[in-house]
Amino acid sequence: MSDVEKHEGGCACGEVRYKTSAYPTHTAVCHCRYCQLRTGSAFGVSVYFERNAVEKLSGKLQKFEYETESGNKVCTEFCVICGTTVYWYAEAFNGTVGIGGGTFDPPSFWYDIKREVFCRSKAPFSENAINDKYQTSPIYNQVKVDPYRQSGSG
Ligand SMILES: [Zn+2]
Ligand SMILES: [Zn+2]
Repeated sequence: MSDVEKHEGGCACGEVRYKTSAYPTHTAVCHCRYCQLRTGSAFGVSVYFERNAVEKLSGKLQKFEYETESGNKVCTEFCVICGTTVYWYAEAFNGTVGIGGGTFDPPSFWYDIKREVFCRSKAPFSENAINDKYQTSPIYNQVKVDPYRQSGSG
């Protein structure tokens, strides 16, 4: 893995721009309800980096915090103008920052996706060739049940 990987990306309106300067620490396609609600789509594409490998170049972000069924806090950051979720910080992955995989400039999907998580709430049409699949996730430890709309039980 090269530590000189350099990529840029940003939000839909172009105000928020960032630069990454390392290979991701881990990557996943996530079918959890939080990702489905965050994106309005079938799944999230999570690309995590060491925090010092990500630099914001421009734009203003608004925070939204929630606690997952595992009791972990997640803080998403989205563009105040267009609403694209660009970053998030997950307590479960301390020291890293997640970037929405679709926000990288083309060719956007330059990284490998290593695993697929929360397949229990996966849309029936979203099949893929990822081998490492989980009904929840390897670190999942449910401590509460969220309301129906958010619950990972799908
Ligand atoms: Zn924007
Ligand atoms: Zn998710």
